[in-house]
Amino acid sequence: MPATLTVEDLAVDYGGRRAVEGVSLTVGRGEIVTLLGANGSGKSTTLRTISGLVKPARGRVLYEGRDITRAPADQIVAAGVGHVPEGRDVFVEFTVLENLLVGGHTVSRRDLAARLEGAFELFPVLYARRRQLAGTLSGGEQQMLAIARALIARPRLLLLDEPSLGLAPMLAREIFRTIQRINATGVAVLLVEQNARRALRLAGRGYVLETGRVVVAGTSRELGADPSVRSAYLGFGRTPAPAEGG
Ligand code: ATP
Repeated sequence: MPATLTVEDLAVDYGGRRAVEGVSLTVGRGEIVTLLGANGSGKSTTLRTISGLVKPARGRVLYEGRDITRAPADQIVAAGVGHVPEGRDVFVEFTVLENLLVGGHTVSRRDLAARLEGAFELFPVLYARRRQLAGTLSGGEQQMLAIARALIARPRLLLLDEPSLGLAPMLAREIFRTIQRINATGVAVLLVEQNARRALRLAGRGYVLETGRVVVAGTSRELGADPSVRSAYLGFGRTPAPAEGG
């Protein structure tokens, strides 16, 4: 059985400037894999290329063995790849329900009610606020809405870009628990996360990007023990280890 996601030798340019250079990675069925790296290392670009928002200069993206490198973004969504972009990106002038309906535009009328029900079951707060404008939700609720919106199309691979960014530690923990619950239903996850400690706890494996290249790859245990990862992302070696937070 092919992996859920296989990225082969991906190279991406923005206006002639290379942002991603030769990235290869895989996400197996039902796996959570994390992508770590400093600001500007190419994490978001990698996700955006997988979901078809950016087209690569070189390389291939295979979803369940099928080459989707040149497919339009809406076809990639329909094939089963959900993308929750950084900064949540909900439609603030739309209600919660309208946002979810946008996520469900590829879903048949017949299936839509059950999908909405599933979203509200996962996020009861969204049901309570279904008629509220998304712009009036808290940051954590907007993140839940962005995730729920992506789930409406029932993806088998979820790309999450910094889901805990800007959230209070308690809300961030809730988001991580939610990711775990989503994964437990069989959805594979590729997680970009600035909280490397949390990400490694959640993920089975990970990759570290530096200036567009994978510089370290391994199981979360291996990454957690890697001196370069520990000093750059886990706070060891430079300053005393931070207290557990986030
Ligand atoms: P961050 O954590 O800050 O989001 P990242 O690891 O996700 O960083 P990318 O956003 O993928 O990194 O950016 C990779 C490189 O591409 C950076 O040098 C960035 O400045 C550049 N870049 C990203 N988006 C664009 C764009 N739309 N146009 C031009 N350059 C871009």
